[in-house]
Amino acid sequence: MNKRCPQCKGSGFIIKEDPVTKEHKGYPCDCRIARDEQDRLYVKLISADIPNEYWEYTFENYLSLPIGTSLTQKANKDKLDLFKSLLDDPNKFMNEYKVLWIWGPHANACHTSLAVMLATELLKNNFKVKFITMQRLADAFVDFNDKKEYFKNLETADVLVIDDAFDSTRCSISGEYTKIHLFNWIRDALTANKKIICTSKVKVDQIDVAFSQSKNLLQKYARELEIQGSLRTDSNKLV
Ligand SMILES: [Zn+2]
Repeated sequence: MNKRCPQCKGSGFIIKEDPVTKEHKGYPCDCRIARDEQDRLYVKLISADIPNEYWEYTFENYLSLPIGTSLTQKANKDKLDLFKSLLDDPNKFMNEYKVLWIWGPHANACHTSLAVMLATELLKNNFKVKFITMQRLADAFVDFNDKKEYFKNLETADVLVIDDAFDSTRCSISGEYTKIHLFNWIRDALTANKKIICTSKVKVDQIDVAFSQSKNLLQKYARELEIQGSLRTDSNKLV
């Protein structure tokens, strides 16, 4: 409850007269309703496995950060407008996309934060989301038979966020088995009509040839959103 709330002075309730019975009754204050809504969102963010360092960032935060140069910002303009339209209407994402591939060559470009912003809007709209890093996913395939619960849990999601997808600078994936499992898993997810949001430093065409099967699939289904520029300070944790 907000102690400085002018309406309820922090009690969370306001007393109003019932228009019919003329009785005075306690009603939850708007600040309490907003707080309850926020708490419900936190529960969803936790069950989506979204790391809490990303929870508080908004699109407005992102736009106000010193990211890139005026040139890269100009290059990003149309893409960010498109991205904003998905934040405003998450159903548009669910209806029109199979894979959204948020990428850009620069480090600290806030791709993960952008992916989480969309994931958060999807959670607010009661879609089930699971956040995974590519490394974690690849490691799970190594001992596939011990990870049945892990994969079962991912199956419950409507939307999968894969951070650092096929980004060889940020994850190491070796072994033919892993690569085959990975391809099968992505193919099955798309067949089951799950939506996938990926962040990566590389565009789909640049995915290492070692993942050619997955690459072929992604070339077919991914819609790419290139966001350029690096955050020009180390003081902010947004990555
Ligand atoms: Zn209040």
